[in-house]
Amino acid sequence: MHFDRRFSALLAAPVLALSLAACGVQDTAAPAEPQPVTDLRILSADDMEGRLVGSEGNARAREYLIGRLSEIGVTPVFENYEQAFTFQRSLDFRDPDAERETVRAVNLVGHIAGTNPGEHVMVVGAHYDHVGMDEDGNIFNGADDNASGTAGLLAVAAAFMENPPQNDVILIAFDAEEGGLRGARHYVANRPEGFENIGFMLNMDMIAFSETDDLYVVGTWHYPVLLDLVTAAAEVSPINLHTGYDEPTDDPRNDWTMLSDHGPFHAAGIPFLYLGVEDHEHYHQITDTFENMTIPFFLGAVETAVDVARRADAMLDVIANAPSRQPETDAK
Ligand SMILES: [Zn+2]
Repeated sequence: MHFDRRFSALLAAPVLALSLAACGVQDTAAPAEPQPVTDLRILSADDMEGRLVGSEGNARAREYLIGRLSEIGVTPVFENYEQAFTFQRSLDFRDPDAERETVRAVNLVGHIAGTNPGEHVMVVGAHYDHVGMDEDGNIFNGADDNASGTAGLLAVAAAFMENPPQNDVILIAFDAEEGGLRGARHYVANRPEGFENIGFMLNMDMIAFSETDDLYVVGTWHYPVLLDLVTAAAEVSPINLHTGYDEPTDDPRNDWTMLSDHGPFHAAGIPFLYLGVEDHEHYHQITDTFENMTIPFFLGAVETAVDVARRADAMLDVIANAPSRQPETDAK
């Protein structure tokens, strides 16, 4: 039950509160916006200009995220939260042989200490960059892709700060996912000292739009040890959680194993789960805006992500040490 500040002040005077209740006066103010919704709204706002890696809008999103990580109480892993790197990009995205520019990208990395850490750390991640603007100045807000997963990342961080994990947890807001999973690849190749041994990675990318409340969890084909965890999470999830899109196939539309930031972790042999929705009408369109998101679904997806993260933490060493399934040895 929520009261806004004005009304809780009234409640501080018991007599007045009673009399209001007796008169049937109700709190007509709009309920407070849940924090993940606020994060989603702010990260996908027009002033973030589509968060293209290297852009001012991307830097504004990063500034906001640094403020939130620090407010939540997450510890920086490096000198600060930033893990910067550079890469070369063609000035004309349609022509890979055009003149190139050097782009600076920045992952944000934080740490939450476990109460009884084992030999592995858990990584939770989501990319905060998107594709920017077009020549006409149209903004690709990227609310679903991936302000939503980034807001989910902050929610997982807040949940673990409130109720600490057993194992050390590393939280990463990846940059430069669009166009090459560069942030995730850089992190996997440049892990901070003391946190090299990753037992499990949870990735969120596009968790805020489904008109049918359907969220996919990808990764159980390769890591069958995660099936029981996912089944248990699905039973209590307020939305529909489905496994799939991870069976090796020649059709990239049906195998999402390498399509987002979990890919480089999987390639390094690290068990992963990825949470996301099927491609939809707003995917990489200028209509991927906060206003078009399905907020109750988003909140259900965030709740499910927190639950999956907690369950994975509780069995991290088991997950890390279980055999994975290889397409070479398990013919369909
Ligand atoms: Zn994405």
